[in-house]
Amino acid sequence: MSRRLLVTGGAGFIGANFVHHWCQTYPEDRIVVLDALTYAGNRENLAAVESRENFQFIYGDICDRSLVDHILAAEEIDAIAHFAAESHVDRSILGPGAFVQTNVVGTFTLLEAFRQHWQNAGKPEAYRFLHVSTDEVYGSLGPNDPSFSETTPYAPNSPYSASKAGSDHLVRAYYHTYQLPTIITNCSNNYGAYQFPEKLIPLMCIHILMGKQLPVYGDGKNVRDWLYVNDHCRALDVVINRGTPGETYNIGGNNEVENISLVQNLCQIMDELSPNLPVSPAANLITFVKDRPGHDRRYAINANKLTTELGWTPSVTITTGLRLTVEWYLQNRDWWEPLLSEEYQAYYWQNYVAS
Ligand code: NAD
Repeated sequence: MSRRLLVTGGAGFIGANFVHHWCQTYPEDRIVVLDALTYAGNRENLAAVESRENFQFIYGDICDRSLVDHILAAEEIDAIAHFAAESHVDRSILGPGAFVQTNVVGTFTLLEAFRQHWQNAGKPEAYRFLHVSTDEVYGSLGPNDPSFSETTPYAPNSPYSASKAGSDHLVRAYYHTYQLPTIITNCSNNYGAYQFPEKLIPLMCIHILMGKQLPVYGDGKNVRDWLYVNDHCRALDVVINRGTPGETYNIGGNNEVENISLVQNLCQIMDELSPNLPVSPAANLITFVKDRPGHDRRYAINANKLTTELGWTPSVTITTGLRLTVEWYLQNRDWWEPLLSEEYQAYYWQNYVAS
């Protein structure tokens, strides 16, 4: 069965990688991207697919109910892959309002519109609402705690994770109340091509290339699980096509790494791949800065359910994935240089220097 898929936030990091994955894997399917092109959205991320006949980009806000209604009906959408969000924890601390608006109100708007659309179509079983969420909704783990499973109670600690948790709860409720065929995925930290410069891995790559300090929060011993973005996209594909409505699936890479080790690793790869760095060895740029307020200590994901029920496993090791990512930032200076705008510099200064 060919699909007609609405991808919200498809001009962002994971959304764009997902669109590329979907177009390559299911060339017959229709893809409509709805994106408000916030600072994190970039049409360049979709340049490779823009000219396809069965691809459409629509500039607009997921909170705009009449626009969403129109797209669902006019494009006869049968599945939504919902990525659109304010996604950066540090920005949520500086200004939480946009996070509540897009992540909670925006998700609610999509759910209501999709419920109406699904009802109008006679409640087809094949319709899907995939809500792409984060492991951060589960809160923070101690060093010996078991990894997050799908039944771990929610305990979000940042405005970002709280807004994502709120949206997860709404999505869950729409299945239980209306039987709308929703599925939630909670994934660990992604990395790979097209990630906006504010996030840890691109920030470090770009700063190494520019000879700028590499800010590491606190003692650098916060632990994150890392997943190569292409593996995340493969997981979402499996969940849309074979996941069970009403279920939640955790997605993770089984790669727990302390932030400081990750940064040191990136420095080594850069030293090796880029012989003319402004500061060498790059690790000389590492600078410990004041910790982020409410900084979760450790995240770890148990993705056994996805593996045993749907047969997904990550295919890219962190060693390979980091090298591929560094190579991408080395080869795509034209992509990231224009993103270091005045707005971005102001955000960076406020977050790392003024605080
Ligand atoms: P991103 O910030 O790179 O992209 C977000 C996209 O959403 C941008 O293109 C932006 O323009 C768009 N957008 C924002 N507000 C909008 C609105 N009101 N209407 C329409 N479009 C809007 O984010 P990302 O890192 O690609 O994350 C995508 C999703 O995956 C998010 O829901 C995030 O919570 C989730 N997630 C991210 C990670 C990660 O490591 N990046 C991990 C797990 C889950």
